[in-house]
Amino acid sequence: MSKVIVLGAGFAGHTAALYLRKRLAEIHEVHVISPQSYFQFMPSLVWVGVGHMKPEETIIDLMPVYRKQGIRFTIDRAVEIHVEKQAVVTASGESYEYDYLINATGPYLNFEGTSGLGPKVGYTHSICTKEHAGQAAEAYLKAVQKMKAGERQTIVAGTGHAGSTCQGAAFEYVQNIHYDLLHQGLRDMCDLVWFSNEAKLGDLGMGAFVFNVKGELRESEELTDWLMRDCNIRCMIGSRPIKIEQNKLFWENVRGEEGCLDYDFAMLIPQFIGQKIRYINAEGEDISDKMSNPAGLMKVDADYESGPRGYANWKAEDWPSAYQSPLYPNIFAAGIAFAPPHPISAPSGITASGVTIHAAPPRTGMIACIIGRMVADNIADMIQNDDTIIRRRIPMSKMPAACVASQRKSIATGSAIMVALYPVVPDYTRYPVEHGGRNMKLTTYEIGKASAWIKRILHHMFLYKMAAKPGWSYIPE
Ligand SMILES: Cc1cc2nc3c(=O)[nH]c(=O)nc-3n(C[C@H](O)[C@H](O)[C@H](O)COP(=O)(O)OP(=O)(O)OC[C@H]3O[C@@H](n4cnc5c(N)ncnc54)[C@H](O)[C@@H]3O)c2cc1C
Repeated sequence: MSKVIVLGAGFAGHTAALYLRKRLAEIHEVHVISPQSYFQFMPSLVWVGVGHMKPEETIIDLMPVYRKQGIRFTIDRAVEIHVEKQAVVTASGESYEYDYLINATGPYLNFEGTSGLGPKVGYTHSICTKEHAGQAAEAYLKAVQKMKAGERQTIVAGTGHAGSTCQGAAFEYVQNIHYDLLHQGLRDMCDLVWFSNEAKLGDLGMGAFVFNVKGELRESEELTDWLMRDCNIRCMIGSRPIKIEQNKLFWENVRGEEGCLDYDFAMLIPQFIGQKIRYINAEGEDISDKMSNPAGLMKVDADYESGPRGYANWKAEDWPSAYQSPLYPNIFAAGIAFAPPHPISAPSGITASGVTIHAAPPRTGMIACIIGRMVADNIADMIQNDDTIIRRRIPMSKMPAACVASQRKSIATGSAIMVALYPVVPDYTRYPVEHGGRNMKLTTYEIGKASAWIKRILHHMFLYKMAAKPGWSYIPE
């Protein structure tokens, strides 16, 4: 009998647990440990943050799902992984043994990385959890009331740290605010600002994008510039907050400028770092610095020497393919929990105060699910064959991604931008530089109502799959 522990029940962890249970005989235990009793569908938090969806519509209660599937579920937070004893210690002091472990604990939201950032101790909002998105909606709707009363407002959305990722979600949020205000006849009462660490508009931490738009090659910078101008959104890119106070954002950028932006409502995504989990060896020593990168994300089979080689020398092969710890091969990391070898984008630059601004690489929900499933399949194969062979490998340089950024939720009047790309990490040995290192047949950009419908369908299909309802495994990641 083998015991597999999955830490985290998000996109990567929940997917891994469902596929492990599907593959493994009942004699083997699949055990999920996660501090939340629910699965959170993050993409719809954008709609929660503008008051168009209730927070509870974005979650699934996991206890009944796991009970039905025969998955053991412990609602607790892992604080230590004893790599040689093969045990996880949780915040409540319990210890659970494993034969295989998947770390799918996602990001720690590092609000502390920027003074004055975040809804708890700072002055800005976030849409990274359902609670945060609910609070963001309340504050946004107050700003809307003020506009209705004739008081002009400044709204800022974007990134709250020099090394933030997840620009796509913030971009979708600023678009939703624009179209919501337009719909309410209030757009003239609001100055809308896009504040981001990106090197170029539309970079989104993914590097220079070139898209096939109905047979014509177009750059994401040009497409995004057009969108932002059309929506009259002021853009401040290559920027980071120095500190944030009530209604004041002190900033600097890579062009040597600095200033203070007065705002009424701000939603800024924090830096994502690793969860605070310590790795302990047989002697009781803390070996977290060997198991993780300085940001606390778990090291896997990537080339971590490639980071210092610089953007011009980064290669597709630097990226991991099995997501397996090189030190403890029975430990895997899936989703945001694995340490990327380096960013995907070029650095934005260095500010006058000497801070490097560099968008971190995103690992979206789809990528997290693909990795979660593949890691689960590899573990199931090893258990079933009683060996240690890794049979499947999918580096992000051979992985597709699709993202739909809504502009408004309504399927009658809404619209969305749908982006497909292959591969996620550019590969300049397989695809030309002028194509951004990507396959132009599979890297496309569509904008319109059909994409808005796809976004709504995705919400329902995905929650159906994650609830493990009949036929769930036929719905692709
Ligand atoms: C507002 C927003 C919109 C987004 N929109 C999109 C989109 O449209 N498309 C897309 O593809 N991606 C989108 N993303 C990105 C996507 O949500 C992430 O890529 C995805 O959630 C990453 O999956 P994960 O499993 O690595 O982490 P998560 O989904 O964050 O899951 C982490 C899990 O680990 C648990 N956990 C945390 N600490 C511990 C611990 N110590 N012990 C045990 N468990 C722990 C958490 O409770 C959670 O269950 C969006 C993100 C945000 C914030």
